Amino acid sequence: MSFAASVLTLYPEMFPGALGLSLAGRALEAGTWSLDAIQIRDFATDRHRTVDDTPAGGGAGMVMRADVLAKAIDHASPPGDTRPRLLMSPRGRPLTQARVRELAAGPGAVILCGRFEGVDQRLIEARGLEEVSVGDFILSGGEPAALVLLDAVVRLLPGVMGNAVSGEEESFENGLLEHPHYTRPQEFEGRPIPEVLISGNHKKIAAWRRAESEALTKTRRPDLVQNGKTKG
Ligand code: SAH
Repeated sequence: MSFAASVLTLYPEMFPGALGLSLAGRALEAGTWSLDAIQIRDFATDRHRTVDDTPAGGGAGMVMRADVLAKAIDHASPPGDTRPRLLMSPRGRPLTQARVRELAAGPGAVILCGRFEGVDQRLIEARGLEEVSVGDFILSGGEPAALVLLDAVVRLLPGVMGNAVSGEEESFENGLLEHPHYTRPQEFEGRPIPEVLISGNHKKIAAWRRAESEALTKTRRPDLVQNGKTKG
């Protein structure tokens, strides 16, 4: 079973973009996942292929029309399609590794990329869109956010990461930020690799890494640590 992504966008040329290279690109070619970038404008009905209009109540910018977007979504996700429908949105629930893991275990995702001021609220409600944010900042469009989400999902698909263990030890997978890494040379600009890492004592190394992880999480991301315990 492969992961099927349908992305609704005014800029289908942005896909697969960075996801056509490296691990994700190879997995795309191998059919581990598929990507259908759908031009929203193809679902406009007027002569000028209008997809947006001025905001009701006035104000700056433009709003994407519910009727045009509904047609695009109904085309990409007909009745019976069990894939979650996501709207990339700074108002959404911040994306987490837990949600990424859930998505990767599912059949795929239908992803709507906003532009301008955003989309008509009635579309979000009528099509049951799940709003997903990639962080507390504003992008000019949902496309880079969709690429971020898909990158995070695709690397978890079976067979995509050569070394599965490295995925399990990463930041967030155990509620902690990852310990620091070192590799050759043994000394760089007068800085040696921490002694313990070249000791060959695997128990000591594991304990050192765990302690570094915990200290780093405490100072950088106290929000990940609750009551002295980390959120799993
Ligand atoms: N006026 C909106 C911002 C619109 S930005 C507001 O103040 O909330 C235009 C589009 O970019 C959005 O519709 C959304 O699809 C996308 N976007 C911007 N920032 C994002 C973020 N942090 N996460 C996910 N999508 C984002």
